Amino acid sequence: MAESGAVDSTRLTVVGSGDAFSGCGCNAAYLVDERVLIDCGSPVQALLPRAGMTVASIDLVLVTHFHADHTYMLPMLLGARAFAGELRGGLTIGGPPGTREYVLRLLNTGYGRHLVELIEQRLELQWAVFQDGANDVVAGYRVGAHAVVHSTGPSLAYTVQRDDAAVIGFSGDTTLCAGLRRAIASADVMVCECTGWDGPTEGGHLWRGELEQLIAEYPNTRFVLSHLRTRGTVAGAILAHDLLSIDVGAPSDRDASGSGRGPGRAAAEAGRK
Ligand SMILES: [Zn+2]
Repeated sequence: MAESGAVDSTRLTVVGSGDAFSGCGCNAAYLVDERVLIDCGSPVQALLPRAGMTVASIDLVLVTHFHADHTYMLPMLLGARAFAGELRGGLTIGGPPGTREYVLRLLNTGYGRHLVELIEQRLELQWAVFQDGANDVVAGYRVGAHAVVHSTGPSLAYTVQRDDAAVIGFSGDTTLCAGLRRAIASADVMVCECTGWDGPTEGGHLWRGELEQLIAEYPNTRFVLSHLRTRGTVAGAILAHDLLSIDVGAPSDRDASGSGRGPGRAAAEAGRK
């Protein structure tokens, strides 16, 4: 594990960088500052310790949509939080309308009612609903939500920001749509799915050619490409791998301008394993 970044930097960790089925990497899960988890398709309770981190510090879980490769490890995460290691209550799970019902169905299928009640009590579970245009502070982070178009609905892209630190965006799974563009426009660093490599792909996903277009259109946003089926090089972007951590500095000219992002200020300072 690398040394900590500057005090005002935000640490982005890609827990899983692969798409649903290829095995190119673990399934979708991303961590901001070890406190906000976006999606839980990977066994984060097993993977985080390999990077010197723990699920005990997570305050907020954001679900982008209800596909298995983004959510099916939620019962394992919640079980680990409730029954192993340091017990700390006050966990919020947020997502599109229906998230509470969906997650409780996963939990009940996996563990049965008794264990689910114990998990709910021990974690003091709270729920948050996000819809298009949401801009709420939850667990100390400003969360922006943007409806995106995927093969299942509802689906959200998010932006996450602590105080005046960098804005980190997450596409979830999406086609090239207005909601995705809004998320990119407000993000300093955007973790964007890039499922297709050689051409357009099935299932409501982005492909490399569209990412190259977006990278050219949004020069003030630094792109991290993830949800990968294969690996290669894309000019102007960082290709994610499992357990990649990046310390993202705060935009240095925000104080001067009062708002917004400065060109090229979203310096992703270092990639590390
Ligand atoms: Zn999906």
